[in-house]
Amino acid sequence: MSDTHPSPLYRKAHSIIHRWGLFATQDIPKGTRIIQYTGIKITKAESERRAILQEQAALKEGDGSVYIFELNKRYDLDGNTPDNLAKFINHSCAPTCEAVLERGKIWIEALKPIKEGDELFFDYGYDMANFLDHPCACGAKECIGYIVRKDQRAKVRRLLLAKKKI
Ligand SMILES: [Zn+2]
Repeated sequence: MSDTHPSPLYRKAHSIIHRWGLFATQDIPKGTRIIQYTGIKITKAESERRAILQEQAALKEGDGSVYIFELNKRYDLDGNTPDNLAKFINHSCAPTCEAVLERGKIWIEALKPIKEGDELFFDYGYDMANFLDHPCACGAKECIGYIVRKDQRAKVRRLLLAKKKI
């Protein structure tokens, strides 16, 4: 567990984007490993079952959060556990952090220098399937209004434009 760090680089606080967020407690240089994204290792079958449940809860509660990460071909990681503080990091289409998978562990690392007090963000990278269930309010200029993987954003943008014309 990385949460035993003597002075964590982050703290949990209210976010204007979505409920809770993590914020830098000091200036963080680019490339810094900030926090481990912990959770429970589950099989792909279990992962699929949980993903459907989380999607259903998301629709009911208007909370589009899915906390499942791919670890490898056989296993995923479900980060929806009480001790995983990294799950409070919000998505941004112009993120300051990235999730890095290394030897079966997921770390949140700084993509660029982060200033003390800034909220931490990483790109959730959701597949465009069901993108309407995952609205985005990050406010970045590259934001298309939904949380979608970077390489699928142009496609979704075209879909949304075509819809407006009808
Ligand atoms: Zn966005």
